[in-house]
Amino acid sequence: MHDALLNIDGSQGEGGGQIIRSSLALSMCLGKPFQITHIRANRDRPGLQSQHLTAVTSARTIVDADVEGAEIGSQQLFFIPKQVTPGDYHFSIGTAGSTTLVLQTLLPALMMADKPSNLVLEGGTHNPFAPPYDFLVKTFLPLIQRMGPGITARLDRTGFAPGGGGILHITIQPVERLKPLMLTERGKILQQSAEVLLAHLAEHIAYRELKVIAGSLGYSPDQLHFQLVESAYGPGNVVLIYVRSESVTEVFSAFGERGLPAEQVAAKAVNDAKHYLQSNAVVGKNLADQLLIPLALAGQGAFLTQKPSLHTITNMTVIKQFMNVEFITRQINPDAWLISLP
Ligand code: AMP
Repeated sequence: MHDALLNIDGSQGEGGGQIIRSSLALSMCLGKPFQITHIRANRDRPGLQSQHLTAVTSARTIVDADVEGAEIGSQQLFFIPKQVTPGDYHFSIGTAGSTTLVLQTLLPALMMADKPSNLVLEGGTHNPFAPPYDFLVKTFLPLIQRMGPGITARLDRTGFAPGGGGILHITIQPVERLKPLMLTERGKILQQSAEVLLAHLAEHIAYRELKVIAGSLGYSPDQLHFQLVESAYGPGNVVLIYVRSESVTEVFSAFGERGLPAEQVAAKAVNDAKHYLQSNAVVGKNLADQLLIPLALAGQGAFLTQKPSLHTITNMTVIKQFMNVEFITRQINPDAWLISLP
């Protein structure tokens, strides 16, 4: 019965959650059934965890799929989609798993559906190793909107890990066809700023982080912001650095961790911002892997980015297994690569 399925190896390349999310997203959009084995083989806790399982079960609901293997810890999944049904959906991860990554799975099909959708996603909104809400609204969604779909996002409560409790609302006005995206010149840097979010932790953490940012990036007090997030369920701390140029706004983030000095948290975000600024790239490392599916669905487009990460390389391979597309990657200068679809 499953012979005709696309076979995806979840341990290839980066071997993480993105392989299963991208497979789900493309299967939903293209109506292609797949099976995936060795899910998240390269992670400490392999197999489907709450965030990935919610991606699977919410995708199943939206395309009325036949699914086998949708359990916590499962390393193998069969997913046979039917038609996309846009509409109003509410999905709760049940832990602090990332809502923005669940959205990464569902958005492609819903933004090309035949009717609008409203999503409410509950879980984490500010997680390490995932796009923070601020990156979603300032960086990713404005670029998707340039491709045609109308999308709004609203944060009703911030959710940090492990407390969770975050609530993200998304409205989606779909389009039939995506416009190509060209991000090959950054243009002038128009504005830079930093923001520290802090929940249920000592305020000196935020001041120390802002001091490092001011010292290393030369920001003046009016470029430095601090927000206490009292509604969050548990403690949390994230440093966000915004770089707005003529073509995009990039957001660099780093998360506070127990035992990690605040100075080192800030230094991590600062380093990422500095590397980006020095490179002349338009698209940062994380944004690069996230733009590949929209680009492939548009069938055309190009962006100048930093050295492609293993996430980016792996995502291109997975996309190629679902679609007849050929990404071309060309190094343009020591710090910048052009990724394009011919
Ligand atoms: P995975 O590790 O396979 O679960 O994939 C993680 C996803 O989160 C990738 O699409 C990354 O680009 C994205 N991501 C991780 N960290 C960040 C960050 N700091 N800002 C924006 N996106 C991120």
